[in-house]
Amino acid sequence: MRRKIIAGNWKMNKTIVEAQALARAIKDKVGNVTAPVVLVCPPFTALTETAMLLKDSEIQLGGQNMHEAESGAFTGEISSEMLLTSGCAYVILGHSERREFFSESDKLVNAKTIKALEAGLIPIVCVGETLDQRESGDMKKVIEEQVTGSLDSLSESDMKKTVIAYEPVWAIGTGKTASPEQAEEVHVHIRTILAEKYGRETAEVVSILYGGSVKASNADGLFCKNNIDGALIGGASLKADEFSAVVNAMESAGG
Ligand code: PEP
Repeated sequence: MRRKIIAGNWKMNKTIVEAQALARAIKDKVGNVTAPVVLVCPPFTALTETAMLLKDSEIQLGGQNMHEAESGAFTGEISSEMLLTSGCAYVILGHSERREFFSESDKLVNAKTIKALEAGLIPIVCVGETLDQRESGDMKKVIEEQVTGSLDSLSESDMKKTVIAYEPVWAIGTGKTASPEQAEEVHVHIRTILAEKYGRETAEVVSILYGGSVKASNADGLFCKNNIDGALIGGASLKADEFSAVVNAMESAGG
């Protein structure tokens, strides 16, 4: 049975005090939920205080990005060890906003993924096509390039630990969600790519999350699909009620 995960990506939102209030509200609602894994990814500045607040709950903490080097002269960056010692178990890598605004390539995402795994963090590696790529019929090719490039040279055991998030760029923050059928089609495509490289047994244990305007009202439809193992949520993760309702939808779908 694959691990189901509901992850909140708070992006560049929430001061420390605001993050504490949001974490407290989420903890009150779903702090005891173990299936699915409930994960929040606050900005770096709020990691430590959020970790302290969540320590007597089941909620996990993640970073939104990290550098691929161990340490050194990389002004403004954060390392895997810094995330780990701030309480993180997960890290989001290759989010489309990192790819678009910070020019992150598959090669760079691959280096970060390898470093995260080496450090003991669980990487959530994001892939997804733009609207142009979908409309020009290139969606499958783009996804294949991103999956194989971002996960290049991972061992079978590292692959099993890695989480993939399919996030169509045209659905992020736009209010447009991929239909459950559109999302399922891409998740099956990703699992097939993994099966070709690692074999069916490995492909079957990798959790593949969907992301793109997920909220309480569309969660049920997505979570009843066989290959959708949870969600990576932006906007709706900033509202405790909405985020918790998505967690509850995953619980009802079989956690
Ligand atoms: C995201 O940024 O990962 C995301 C899916 O955002 P939203 O839920 O707001 O579309």
